[in-house]
Amino acid sequence: MLKENYDAVAKKVKDACERAGRSADEVTIIAVSKTKPLSDIVELQQYGVMDFGENKVQELCAKYEEIEKPVRWHLIGHLQTNKVKYIVDKVELIHSVDSLKLAKQISKEALKKKVTVPILIQVNVAQEETKFGLETEEVMALISEAAKLPNIKIKGLMTIAPFVDDPEDNRQYFRMLKQLFVDIGAKNFDNVDMTILSMGMTNDYEVAVEEGATMVRVGTGIFGARNYNI
Ligand SMILES: *Cc1c(COP(=O)(O)O)cnc(C)c1O
Repeated sequence: MLKENYDAVAKKVKDACERAGRSADEVTIIAVSKTKPLSDIVELQQYGVMDFGENKVQELCAKYEEIEKPVRWHLIGHLQTNKVKYIVDKVELIHSVDSLKLAKQISKEALKKKVTVPILIQVNVAQEETKFGLETEEVMALISEAAKLPNIKIKGLMTIAPFVDDPEDNRQYFRMLKQLFVDIGAKNFDNVDMTILSMGMTNDYEVAVEEGATMVRVGTGIFGARNYNI
């Protein structure tokens, strides 16, 4: 079941790439395993899936400890500065950096643990009040400051688009994020390497891929609906 779901997502990513004249290997599917049991992750690992996303530090750490085969863990949820120390040496990529204070804390803890942590800057392109992320106008200033910090590497941008019935409604936001990504890339900041554009979830990842996503974060579409009451 999980394999069929994953393969169906991969096929839709491939088709979206074809429509956009892109190569399917430009896009990494992050299987968002939050609230799902370890056995689901282990099952997908058997089929060669390597990239998994979690939105809570505690859950990521618990799964990290329990799993045998290594996973490329992606922290995709809001990160509090006091929790940074638990994950800097466990994650492949932090998608959700939304303040200089957080970037500084990641740098500090990474330095202590002698690792370099790749990060994305989270942008609230749709300016939703309920969402974390920087306003588009704030991004350039944060990046020029954060780029000077040791032991972090800015790799790109991330957004969570609004929840909409018609994914076409989010195309404008994906396009805006892509444009910002290109504009920042053109500035050639030292220590900034704009290669990752993390956008698109179950509801809208095909549109996101058409607009240039290099990472899509898919939970429900792979694992089925989440039950938060257990
Ligand atoms: C839960 C979550 C996802 C996946 O959501 P689905 O709609 O289930 O695909 C993607 N990104 C973030 C940041 C999330 O918290």
